[in-house]
Parts: sequence; structure tokens; C-alpha cells
Amino acid sequence: MTDKIFIDGLEIFANHGALREENVLGQKFVVSVSMECDMREAGKGDDLSKSVNYADVCTLIEKSMKDSTYKLIEAAAENIAEKILMSYDRVKSVTVNLKKPWAPILMNVNTVGVEITRLWHTSYIALGSNMGDRRAHLSEAVKSIESSPRCRVKKVSDFIETKPVGGVEQEDFLNGCMEIQTLYTPHELLDFLHEIENAHHRERKIHWGPRTLDLDIILYDDIIMNNSDLTIPHPESTKREFVLEPLNRIAPYAYHPAARMYISELFDKIH
Ligand code: ADP
Ligand code: MG
Repeated sequence: MTDKIFIDGLEIFANHGALREENVLGQKFVVSVSMECDMREAGKGDDLSKSVNYADVCTLIEKSMKDSTYKLIEAAAENIAEKILMSYDRVKSVTVNLKKPWAPILMNVNTVGVEITRLWHTSYIALGSNMGDRRAHLSEAVKSIESSPRCRVKKVSDFIETKPVGGVEQEDFLNGCMEIQTLYTPHELLDFLHEIENAHHRERKIHWGPRTLDLDIILYDDIIMNNSDLTIPHPESTKREFVLEPLNRIAPYAYHPAARMYISELFDKIH
């Protein structure tokens, strides 16, 4: 079931463009958006508070188009998409179509424009610490993720005591898992998690050695990717009890697209 609310052809006079003349004189832009959001309750109860008010969205789009001046309509569209997703909890995804019918290209075209689709992604993050105040490191990491407007923390597992693996003699770990929704791409999310690790003075000295804070992306939607710096699902996730135990507590029905098994099945296998 996919319900959509759309706004078609909102005209806004603004100053975006790569040429100085465009920034000074301004021109007409035409914005259309289509927002995916469940309207069953609003429809059944005839209740606006259960839907998204398109008049408000039009005001938000106008403000977003007039408050900043971008060189690219790509940037203007990105800004509209993020603002809508951050402002309306009910909106799961949004398609923004931004046209520039008077673009100064000295040729006769009907219009030029961009169209982008952005959405909240679901990701599972594993947390671990075995140095200093382990509980504080993990709790602060959760808070840092929560404080990003591009992330929403949905669930956090209990933190569990675990023995180190990988052969390095070191202190016991405290581990946990969390479910988040995020607007970050996988690489942006990795960079964001690295920033948080660095703020906790994480040093990468010994592979699989002691650490103040380790944040790993276990799953990201149903993506399977294997780049030199990022593998999703996390390659060790199917073997590690310290990941699967807390993950199984918050998301037994999450699906591991590489192992083609549910988390509860993977946990039962190694438990
Ligand atoms: P580990 O978590 O395996 O104990 P590190 O935290 O030191 O080790 O991570 C080393 C590198 O692993 C990171 O710099 C990152 O580029 C890479 N990496 C690959 N896939 C992932 C993933 N899914 N989540 C987090 N880091 C990953
Ligand atoms: Mg890591």
C-alpha cells in the first residue's frame, strides 16, 4: 500500500543559479513534491491532524527556496527534501521535482529541472567499549546519534558484558545494538560514526584491540555492498555473539540479506 500526498507546480520566484545575473535578477522556479505517507487514519476519521497539511508544506518549500541562494537546483532540491523529511514524522519518502523554465541557456526549451527521491533508511548499529567508563561511552554515543537531525533512534538494546574475541589479551567488553532511521547514505553514516568514535579518543593501534568506543554498521535497509572501506552487512556480524545477542533482543525479525536469514535464526545458529 502506497499513499501519496502531492503538490503540483508551486511557482516561486527565487535567485538560484550559477550565473551572477541569476542571483541578482532572480527567476521563476516550479516545485512539485510527492510525499509517501500512510493516510488510512486521516481518511477514516476525516482528521487533518493524522495527515500532512499541504498548505504548511507549500510555506516550508517557499521559505526553503527563498532563505538561501544556491548555484545548483540540485542543492535547492536536496534542501527541500531534507526539510520535509525532518519536519513531518509521517512522511517516509519524498520526491522533489524542481524546474527552471527560464534557465538562461539561449535555446528554446520547455523547461529544465531535476528530480530526486529521498527517504528515511533503517540501519542497525553495533556499539562496543572495553576501556574507561564503558557504559558512559556507549550512552554518550547513543546521545550523539540522537542529537543529529539526520538520525532518529528507534530502539536501544540493553548493554551486555562479553569476553574479547580475536586473540588479543584485554579487558571484557560492554556491547549493545541500536536501531536508527537515518537520512545519511551508508558512507555518510560511516563518517558520522567515525566522528563520534574520534570524539571518544578512539585510537586504531591494534587490530581487534582495546577501544573506548567502536561503532559498526551491521545492516542498512536491505543493502549488500562491499567497498574497500565499507562492507554492509558487516562481514563479521553472522559470527559474533556479542553483536547477534543484543541485535536479537531488539530486532529478531530483521533480515540479513547476505546470509539470507532472520537475525533470530542467525542467533540460534551460534548460540
Ligand atoms: P573493527 O570494528 O572491525 O574491530 P575498526 O573499528 O577499527 O575495526 O574498523 C576498521 C575499518 O572497518 C573502519 O575504518 C571502516 O572503514 C571499516 N568498515 C568496513 N565495513 C564497516 C562497517 N559495516 N561498519 C563499520 N566499519 C566498517
Ligand atoms: Mg569498527
